[in-house]
Amino acid sequence: MWRSPWCVGAFISSCIVSAAYWRRDLSLSGLFAAFLLGLFVYVAGGVVWSIVLVAFFLSASALSHVQTANKRSVMIAFAKGGQRDAAQVLANGSIALLAALFVLWSGRCGLGSNTAWLIFLASLAGATADTWATEIGTLRPGEPRLLTTLQSVPAGRSGGVTWLGSLAALGGASFITLTAWGALLLWPGPWRFSAELAIWGILAGLVGSFVDSLLGATLQAQYFCPRCAKITEARVHHCGTPTIYRSGWRWLNNDWVNFFSLCAAAVVVIFGSLLF
Ligand SMILES: [Zn+2]
Repeated sequence: MWRSPWCVGAFISSCIVSAAYWRRDLSLSGLFAAFLLGLFVYVAGGVVWSIVLVAFFLSASALSHVQTANKRSVMIAFAKGGQRDAAQVLANGSIALLAALFVLWSGRCGLGSNTAWLIFLASLAGATADTWATEIGTLRPGEPRLLTTLQSVPAGRSGGVTWLGSLAALGGASFITLTAWGALLLWPGPWRFSAELAIWGILAGLVGSFVDSLLGATLQAQYFCPRCAKITEARVHHCGTPTIYRSGWRWLNNDWVNFFSLCAAAVVVIFGSLLF
């Protein structure tokens, strides 16, 4: 019984999320969401899927502890960083979770499980690309421009892109895809992979990050702090003042933008798998 995948998965997942909680990378709700994600991913996909998930998680966690003065000021101004709660964990992990649940439901080698693997991979490539772009892009003061109008915006504003952030997105998507490839070479499983699909995986991650910036620049809800005269995404500004709605769809916050950008990454990889 103790060697069942559920017990092993619960043990590994609880070790990793407790360490993250202890390091203040996760809030209590984030801890539970991340634990369930890790458990289902291990039971559905075994070692290979878990390595990909852990690669995303550890790289995001490590980069969030790399700080510069510029990054600290951006993080405070835009209420980013800090402990990830359940909504943030699910915004990045719900497509991976759905892919894992699909594999469990359909049987390990059932029809469509390879597509589920590619969707899992693409969503994490997108999540990693986006996280690396934010964590690395904000290290150095640059001049972010809106993806749509090329108008210059303050660093940290959703939809603002820099060269450094874009390179970091490419790095994150490549890192996850190559990790998946390496893991499959060491632990061959029922999951198919090839050089063509690696390229589609990286492309999916980049498209995810692009859609994230595009939605951030256009439809994401923006608020205005009357006290600081600054645009923000928060309903209550970090100065404590309730903010005023300014533009965008009111319900479309950063978590939903993240989720939809990973849907776009999944669509790209499905398209790619149909071609190869
Ligand atoms: Zn304020």
